[in-house]
Amino acid sequence: MGDSSILIVGSGFGGLGLGIRLKKAGIHDFTILEQADDVGGTWRDNQYPGAACDVQSHLYSYSFERNPTWTRTFAPQREILSYLRRCADKYGVRSHIRFGTEVTSARFDERSNTWAVSTTRGLFRARVLVSATGGLCRPMYPNIEGAESFGGKAFHSARWYNACSLHGKTVGVIGTGASAIQIVPAIASQVNRLVLFQRTAPWVLPKPDYPISEKWRMLFRRIPFLGWFLRIFLYWTLELRVLAFLHFPGLMKYVTRAATDHIARSISDPGMRTKLTPDYTIGCKRILMSNEYYQALAKPNAEVVTDGIERIVADGVVTADGRHHACDAIVYATGFKTGDDGPAFEIRGLGGMSLEERWKDGAMAYLSATVPDFPNLFFLCGPNSGLSHSSMVFMLESSMSYVIDAVRTMRVRRIERVSVKADVFTRYNEDIQRRFPGTVWSSGCKSWYQTGSGKNVAIWPGFTFQYRSLTKHFRLRDYEIVAQRSEALTSACADASISP
Ligand code: NAP
Repeated sequence: MGDSSILIVGSGFGGLGLGIRLKKAGIHDFTILEQADDVGGTWRDNQYPGAACDVQSHLYSYSFERNPTWTRTFAPQREILSYLRRCADKYGVRSHIRFGTEVTSARFDERSNTWAVSTTRGLFRARVLVSATGGLCRPMYPNIEGAESFGGKAFHSARWYNACSLHGKTVGVIGTGASAIQIVPAIASQVNRLVLFQRTAPWVLPKPDYPISEKWRMLFRRIPFLGWFLRIFLYWTLELRVLAFLHFPGLMKYVTRAATDHIARSISDPGMRTKLTPDYTIGCKRILMSNEYYQALAKPNAEVVTDGIERIVADGVVTADGRHHACDAIVYATGFKTGDDGPAFEIRGLGGMSLEERWKDGAMAYLSATVPDFPNLFFLCGPNSGLSHSSMVFMLESSMSYVIDAVRTMRVRRIERVSVKADVFTRYNEDIQRRFPGTVWSSGCKSWYQTGSGKNVAIWPGFTFQYRSLTKHFRLRDYEIVAQRSEALTSACADASISP
């Protein structure tokens, strides 16, 4: 492989972190393609009121860049975005990023064993392509009859329309996922009326969210061991949840009790309590955390509508019971397109094979990273790497190690092309799918973790340290390889080249 280069798509936690880790590993010939004009990925895009992390920030941050200055146990979005911007500056990654460059498609060129990547700013070529677009970057707008006829402002939670003040308005919020439960309390006191359209009630636990005093921040700054110790403590505390999710679902009854107590403490009206009590096993969908969600819904200006949405009209929403709910604005807190909807951009591998076609029955990858017939292509946050119990940054850092070891191996062994063996890929994915029956994720609910046919393509069904151990080394024996053919070809790929 010689001096071949790397293209990374996306500069969120994954792409940015990989850039930093590559530099730390002495690999500098990489380019990051970023469609927006700033780093941050999901933490740049999700600027809705109340946006904050639901994993403790001392764990939800890079291991190599611990942050002693978090102001809360669960940092708000703007603090996380500032942290990512600081990381980009500190490690000198910005000069590697092409902002405003949206990838439209990528095609593997078998003649040169390189990826040709088409973007809104021309064509890029590189030996290795890393998709770090994240699992949740494409807003999902539900297909509701009449949506286009709505006369007020309507926008997605991940595309918050700051120019539209909700003050004094009647606002309809569609959805009750992790985004909605943060938006609802944040806007409840400024709107005139809030109508929450709930298809499925979520399980919500109290959030142990506290401010971190200046004194503690000073201690974290002066005694780095404290931050490290807290991180380890949080890691193992959260990791214990896997025992209940995966091995002893019976333990979830204690979590269910904590969640039902939370409803009982917050909502006095029995009818409302019933409406807000989920009818599926806790943990099947993401368990949410909020101290203000139920209180906001208990306010006199809030209504929870559980009849299905039939259509949207110019001035509101009509539900299946024929009721018309007047709305001045509609917030779609309806989630994101996932692996079930194909890759984030068109990808064509050997013989022009489309990844969308390959993934038509659900996204799959070896170690969430590689797919047969798509050589030199790696995913960060790929299929079955998602977590519902701990920090995704831990999983991303594991995938980064795998990619870096792959690049090193290719260079040292002078390999031009690596493509995961079909039998290795199949065995791995059969094993992953075998682990789901009997777990909370397969207990009967419908979640974005699954395809329409019920196959779980999102969740990592294990402890995160197991994934880390599997991705520690790139095992060449799992791959079909093509050795370097000539110096001329190699040098043709020495840099991520652009033809405008
Ligand atoms: P989500 O969890 O997929 O929730 C989407 C919501 O929209 C669900 O309640 C869904 O109902 C509802 N919905 C979709 N189509 C609908 C329709 N036609 N009519 C009525 N309701 C409809 O999306 P999200 O809340 O944006 O969260 C997505 C993921 O982002 C989370 O699981 C989490 O991983 C991540 N996230 C993380 C944080 C954080 O703090 N770290 C914050 C926000 C998001 P059903 O439940 O019935 O399908």
